[in-house]
Amino acid sequence: MTRRTFLKAGLALGLGITAKALGIMPALAKESGRMFQVTKTDEEWRQILTPEQFRVLRQEGTERPFANQYYASKEPGAYHCAGCDLPLFSSDAKYDSDTGWPSFWKPISEKAIGTKTDWKLLHRRTEVHCARCGGHLGHVFDDGPPPTGLRYCINSAALNFLPASAR
Ligand code: FE
Repeated sequence: MTRRTFLKAGLALGLGITAKALGIMPALAKESGRMFQVTKTDEEWRQILTPEQFRVLRQEGTERPFANQYYASKEPGAYHCAGCDLPLFSSDAKYDSDTGWPSFWKPISEKAIGTKTDWKLLHRRTEVHCARCGGHLGHVFDDGPPPTGLRYCINSAALNFLPASAR
């Protein structure tokens, strides 16, 4: 163990103990030790998610293009996390990327999502997840439209749509 990992481990341990003792810090998510406000066991997630939602959100699966619920939707409203209901994307920032997945040029708030580097296809991609429950949403690419130039390529199964008319 290097001095640096030792210090990191010590810090994580300290945080864990403090969190337990005070009961005010979010639980440590099991994946890579990142912290999320909403955490559940796989068993608990399976109870509230459909098998497809579980595969996408909890196992970083990808649904088929052009065969998912929201890719062509133009209805005004908000797309919430299918895991924890956090509002993630607005129809205002949705556009037709012709990829077969719902695509957005920005999230509702920078705080709503988190990102990490993904090397699964042996080239660098940026994975996008819900900032509250850590659920995998999709990826973000830099070939989107103005003003951001970003394309958030999101799985429909990770989202629940709330029509503006229902609010
Ligand atoms: Fe979530």
